Amino acid sequence: MAASAPLPASPGSGAPAVVPIGLSEESLAVRDWVHDFAARVIRPAAAEWDEREETPWPILQEAAKVGLYGIDMLQTMHADQTGLLMAAVNEELFWGDAGIGLAIFGSHLASAGIFATGTPEQIVQWIPRCYGSPGDIHLGAYAITEPDSGSDVGSLRTRARRDGDDWVIDGNKCFITNGGIADVHVIVATVDPSLGHAGHASFVIDKGTPGLSMGAKHHKLGLRASHTAEVVLEGVRVPSENLLGGEERLEGRMARARERARTGTLEERGSSSALRTLELSRPIVGAQAVGIARAAYEYALDYAMTRVQFGRPIITNQGIAFTLADMCTEIDAARLLCWRAAYMGRAGHPFARAEGSMAKLKAGEVANWVTDQAISILGGWGYVRDLPVQRWHRDAKIYTIFEGTREIQRRVIARAISGGASEPR
Ligand SMILES: Cc1cc2nc3c(=O)[nH]c(=O)nc-3n(C[C@H](O)[C@H](O)[C@H](O)COP(=O)(O)OP(=O)(O)OC[C@H]3O[C@@H](n4cnc5c(N)ncnc54)[C@H](O)[C@@H]3O)c2cc1C
Repeated sequence: MAASAPLPASPGSGAPAVVPIGLSEESLAVRDWVHDFAARVIRPAAAEWDEREETPWPILQEAAKVGLYGIDMLQTMHADQTGLLMAAVNEELFWGDAGIGLAIFGSHLASAGIFATGTPEQIVQWIPRCYGSPGDIHLGAYAITEPDSGSDVGSLRTRARRDGDDWVIDGNKCFITNGGIADVHVIVATVDPSLGHAGHASFVIDKGTPGLSMGAKHHKLGLRASHTAEVVLEGVRVPSENLLGGEERLEGRMARARERARTGTLEERGSSSALRTLELSRPIVGAQAVGIARAAYEYALDYAMTRVQFGRPIITNQGIAFTLADMCTEIDAARLLCWRAAYMGRAGHPFARAEGSMAKLKAGEVANWVTDQAISILGGWGYVRDLPVQRWHRDAKIYTIFEGTREIQRRVIARAISGGASEPR
């Protein structure tokens, strides 16, 4: 950092100051432990891995060694009956750094897909393989998006065809977190394109399976410590055991969809397992955005208290103080929406008003607005790469894009509150 940067000694390094609604003593201890790791290990490494734009293997190893990356952590989070711990853990990790946070959390996208769709045997067999062990770290990837199928998930072109006892998969995926370098790829493909979502099936594919390869690596605006790439599938042959949920369930779902198409009823529209996985993960993704926003807000608050212009700290200007008050309020509002949806998801309450999408929409918008305001409060120092605020703003942008763009979240909410009347017929 430049010697002349007018900064407080330790800007924005405060402990989580969240009202711990619903978190047990044990969960609070886990959250604080994750915060400590984020402050000690992740944040000091953030600028380096952002510049290197590579998977931060040494940080993953450190996280695995202490039990933060791996099946044990997953079990700890799932043991929490409130559903809030996973949101709280994500907020702390991404407060540390979003790119490294996603490098650590990215395998959960794959394990969540396996958990949502797999049989009990498949869950036991495949989820541990997404993480490996501290001495042999594995990664998971969850691949839906394709060059011609982004928001319109129903139009997937990656095709899975039955061939004897096997399935053969062909297609191209893009923007895949851990794509091509993962040990386990969960690939969502279409078995019957005429059925839209209902014709989709998810397959687990081991590293080294012939025909699966990495395409181009994407070079990104933010989240640069998280690997994102295309995945190419050319005649990838997997045994029928790799179809998540099994043949019977897939056949049953497709038969019901064909019957609905014949009778013209539209219920269950958009209810594929891939969409359910996304809706349940949205509050957690929202919590990540809250973590980024909180990092930027804390930094800007410390700066405003310290930076003197016109003979007094800039926070004595109401324009600055009120902006910080709004930043703090918006972050808390976003967190509460995320926690509500995380709680509902865990308790099995249906998202009748698309509460998962509401949480992700609000948190993404808050992260973008807060990080933008933080840059303004730091003036020129907000804009230079010596300080992290610009990185937080770059990282925040993705939260209006992935796991459903801001427009798609609004579309999902509109459809839920209007009983489908908002959809073109
Ligand atoms: C860093 C990163 C990591 C990612 N990780 C993964 C991953 O691990 N796995 C995975 O499967 N995918 C992943 N994605 C893909 C991501 O989910 C998609 O980029 C996203 O869903 C949007 O799809 P698209 O980029 O094709 O945009 P498009 O769908 O082409 O959208 C373009 C624009 O049109 C708008 N639009 C489209 N349809 C409508 C509509 N009906 N109404 C209003 N507006 C509309 C969109 O909101 C957007 O503004 C990742 C992307 C990035 C950048």
